[in-house]
Amino acid sequence: MSQPPLQPVTQTPARPPLISLDDALARLMQAVRPFDTAEAQQVSTFDALGRVLAADVRSLVYVPPADNSAMDGYAMRCADVPAAGTTLPVSQRIPAGVVGEPLVPGTAARIFTGAQVPLGADAVVMQEQCVAMDGGSVRIETVPRLGLSIRRRGEDVRAGAVVLPAGMRITPQALGLAASAGAATLSVARRPRVALFSTGDELVMPGEVAPEQMKPGAIYNSNRYTLRAMIQALGCECTDLGIVPDRLDATREALRRAAQDHDLIVTSGGVSVGEEDHIKPAVEAEGRLDLWQLSMKPGKPLAFGVVRRSADSPEQHQAYFIGLPGNPVSSFVTFFLVVRPVLLHLQGVVDWQVRPTPMRADFDWPRADKRREFLRVRRNATSGLDLFPNQGSGVLTSAVWGDGVVDNPPGQAIRAGDTVSYLQFSELLS
Ligand code: AMP
Ligand code: MG
Repeated sequence: MSQPPLQPVTQTPARPPLISLDDALARLMQAVRPFDTAEAQQVSTFDALGRVLAADVRSLVYVPPADNSAMDGYAMRCADVPAAGTTLPVSQRIPAGVVGEPLVPGTAARIFTGAQVPLGADAVVMQEQCVAMDGGSVRIETVPRLGLSIRRRGEDVRAGAVVLPAGMRITPQALGLAASAGAATLSVARRPRVALFSTGDELVMPGEVAPEQMKPGAIYNSNRYTLRAMIQALGCECTDLGIVPDRLDATREALRRAAQDHDLIVTSGGVSVGEEDHIKPAVEAEGRLDLWQLSMKPGKPLAFGVVRRSADSPEQHQAYFIGLPGNPVSSFVTFFLVVRPVLLHLQGVVDWQVRPTPMRADFDWPRADKRREFLRVRRNATSGLDLFPNQGSGVLTSAVWGDGVVDNPPGQAIRAGDTVSYLQFSELLS
């Protein structure tokens, strides 16, 4: 008679170590290697918005290329205008894009904004302070000082100077500066490829299962929408692998598939240490995993690891793995606090921290948690912060009502009027 296979003795799993968010971030930055610059892509400057520069952008030109007029008016020599009311003959007319003749001493040149200042002129007086006279002369109603209304050659950018540094995320205004420096294309880090899946047998999709058909205990999958949108908002490619059932084999299979052509695998749920939480054993079987209890609220359990692409994958052929907690607010908050930095770091961004704004709390928070808390708040009309009344980690309404979080240190009670650290969603989600 054959023996039944040995069942492992059921034990209470060891509690993962409790670590601070800052420690977790430091470990992640150490463990995650940014993309090699050999993988950088050359893209049209038009298409580079939101990408991260892989190399410094140096200007090919001086901006402006020559001394030019900041005003519509008259160019002159200061020495020719000793007193207000001086009249000078107008010797030439210089619109933008035209290079005038050297200025004849004792005359003025009619000049327009952006036009190159003629040789010899050392001031421009705006037309509002001039009176055009019959017979082609002009009366200057002021005494100009040297350099008045002249934009100097290279005052914005000097040829050869770095105008945009490697590691910078490109904003609309950075695109404009790159263009003014002569850059038609930019070298940028490739977009991270992220695979996303949700775990949880209770999850169903809106549109697939009508409310009246939902089995007891079923809920709609919200993390899939939130996380996918956050990945895309950061300019990353997102492969959405849907819902993976709470089974070890299914979870391993999903991980193997996701590792093939992605840089990072992000999951939600299943990172606690309950029997239904298969992320830990699945990642351990397919790679390596650290399970942490972050000393923060919301968002305690967090898993970080790597998943091999093949049995003998060297380090550079592994996908990184981050398992977020399942509670909707926890996964939302841990995404922008933990995953966002990793996605930016992969692309070579060094300065991924969002700087907090000191703001006045218009609420009391008397029973602060031992852990660092991220409280959903919103700015009010008097430049203070209001608190959403229900701070539960499943209450996604708080994150929609709010426009940011207060980053509250462990054990720190808040009284109305206190100054607190506010982090704005719009910065954390872009
Ligand atoms: P877990 O981390 O899997 O134990 O899940 C924690 C809580 O989050 C449970 O109440 C889950 O039902 C809920 N949850 C997990 N995944 C999702 C999801 N994708 N959308 C909405 N709620 C979820
Ligand atoms: Mg679950």
